[in-house]
Amino acid sequence: MKNVLILGSTGSIGTQALEIIRNNKDKFKVVGLTCRSRFDDLIGQIREFEPEAVSVGSEDDARRVREEFPGLDVYFGEDGLVEIARMDCDIVLNALMGISGLAPTYEAISLGRDIALANKETLVAGGEIVTNLCREKGVKLLPVDSEHSAIFQCLEGNGGSACGRAYAEPENSGVNRDIRRILLTASGGPFRGRSYDEMKDVSVEQALNHPNWSMGSKITIDSATMMNKGLEVIEARWLFDIPADKIDVHVHPESIVHSMVEFMDGSVIAQMGLPDMKIPIGLALNYPDRLRLIPDFSGRDEDRETDGSLDFFTKGANLTFEKADRKTFKCLDIAYAAINEGGSAPIVMNGANEELVAMFLAGKIGFTDIPDTIERVMGSATFGRPKTVSDILAIDKESRRLARELV
Ligand code: NAD
Ligand code: MG
Repeated sequence: MKNVLILGSTGSIGTQALEIIRNNKDKFKVVGLTCRSRFDDLIGQIREFEPEAVSVGSEDDARRVREEFPGLDVYFGEDGLVEIARMDCDIVLNALMGISGLAPTYEAISLGRDIALANKETLVAGGEIVTNLCREKGVKLLPVDSEHSAIFQCLEGNGGSACGRAYAEPENSGVNRDIRRILLTASGGPFRGRSYDEMKDVSVEQALNHPNWSMGSKITIDSATMMNKGLEVIEARWLFDIPADKIDVHVHPESIVHSMVEFMDGSVIAQMGLPDMKIPIGLALNYPDRLRLIPDFSGRDEDRETDGSLDFFTKGANLTFEKADRKTFKCLDIAYAAINEGGSAPIVMNGANEELVAMFLAGKIGFTDIPDTIERVMGSATFGRPKTVSDILAIDKESRRLARELV
């Protein structure tokens, strides 16, 4: 039985994780839940999963929870997230949105808790200090992002170490020696094939209309600008300890191949499946074992389309790949430049992006103002190399202010 703390339990990843736990009560027990939005959903989750502690967005929300559930430990706000991260558990699922995930994750790692990581912004902003701490504490950082889960699965048993274990055994550099490159796949988002000018006037609704995945609004906009893939390049750089120039983005509109690894002997290993986040969430939570998410093979042709498996005669019959258009989708280039520059650059990029995506969602700026303003913020920001989580959060805050000023 694994005791699980879920940070961001009312979101897209959080609710899918709870669905898995609901169906695997013999394997998992929820000990803590948190949310900032969709408070009413949290109340239902508390009733169903009976955690020991929760953290909510505001003091008012905290009071309401205390009235209804005396005996429950209730925290609130940013400090509340860090406090709940200290609770005793076997694994923390970080399904928070944005930079809010960094501080609680760092806290949980410092106490030696394994992390199932959906929140890529934690590694984009804090990759160096977070992975160093994981190594020091022998903590497993298990990827939930589908591409990184794919790479993780491709690496297991190939070169003897994969993320998580690689961190526990830093002297084992087998991974880097054997890997030629990582082929990171991208769906291309709703505007694949469009020119930059054709994206200037797109609406929030159009940008939120992702072809293959249903996700929270911030990551959905990131997918449309392809900043999501840029963030994922940086996430992979830290998770797998591999230079960004060995990470090669391939647009794959079908979202069946979730990523691949090419080895120095010319072999390429891919991980495939229908686009369903329950697969990577389940593997991260139940690692090293797999869950039973689909029924046994019946052998009957009529079951192929409906048994939840990937049918290579239909959905898997035509898998295509194209080069990413990094001129049009500038965010991808911006992210490569940021990770190559290092230091504070990825933090500035991430902070500006988060602020600008929120402004776009609120109807305050246009779609292409997002990449254009990030470039300007990065051109005008100069910060020293951050050494602590508070340094990172200060740079994040200042980058957001710059983004608001320059837009
Ligand atoms: P979401 O917006 O649906 O949910 C986010 C959750 O975090 C909610 O419970 C929300 O209340 C909480 N939250 C948001 N901001 C907060 C803050 N400042 N303080 C405290 N709590 C806060 O997001 P999501 O789509 O589930 O994504 C979560 C993370 O997982 C993101 O980093 C995203 O990039 C990553 N991810 C998501 C998917 C997906 O399919 N949704 C896939 C890969 C990676
Ligand atoms: Mg992804």
